[in-house]
Amino acid sequence: KLTIERAKQWMRKYNEQIQEQKTYLTELDQAIGDGDHGLNMARGFEEVIKKIESTNYTSLDALFKDVAMTLISKVGGASGPLYGTAFLRFATSLKSEKEADRTNLAEGLNAALEGIKVRGKAHAGDKTMIDVWEPVVNYVRTESVITGRKLAQLAKEKMEETKDMEAKMGRASYLGKRSIGYIDPGAASSYLLFASLADCFE
Ligand code: ADP
Ligand code: MG
Ligand code: MG
Repeated sequence: KLTIERAKQWMRKYNEQIQEQKTYLTELDQAIGDGDHGLNMARGFEEVIKKIESTNYTSLDALFKDVAMTLISKVGGASGPLYGTAFLRFATSLKSEKEADRTNLAEGLNAALEGIKVRGKAHAGDKTMIDVWEPVVNYVRTESVITGRKLAQLAKEKMEETKDMEAKMGRASYLGKRSIGYIDPGAASSYLLFASLADCFE
């Protein structure tokens, strides 16, 4: 069950992960992009934390709307609007509830994924964050028993699978076949997002 406090905890954990892995994410983006993914995410989530820690929320949608608007306004590049859209759709789907059960959470994540797809026009197999999001959302929607361990494990596997893919969308696609052999940076930051969420299922 996702409560307001757990939602904040999720964002706190994710921010810690992002700050810790900032250099790693940037190195991944140096290989097949412009080398700013770690910096973009670190800057964005530092602002997200500032915002949500200084606000008292009475509904999940208000919290995630703030997350979304902060990302959209503070993070440039492809990832800001994409994560921003994801959190905006997530917020809208959760409505002004104080907590979300498994079904609501699954629906919310699915709405977020749809938002990423509409915004970025990429599909599974294009070597983007979608290659982590789609299988994870399907897992949460369809499995009757969800464990944090499995959720994190699946996200990790799917992130690793982007290594052998050829990028079809985003900056990495300019490299064509030369994009093969590197993990997609957005898939890596998405893995961290779901690994942080995994704790909500324990
Ligand atoms: P930029 O490429 O503008 O510098 P970032 O480096 O912050 O932005 O983010 C790059 C990541 O964004 C990629 O690794 C990829 O996962 C994701 N991405 C890029 N374009 C798309 C798209 N059209 N759809 C989904 N994800 C995308
Ligand atoms: Mg980049
Ligand atoms: Mg950039």
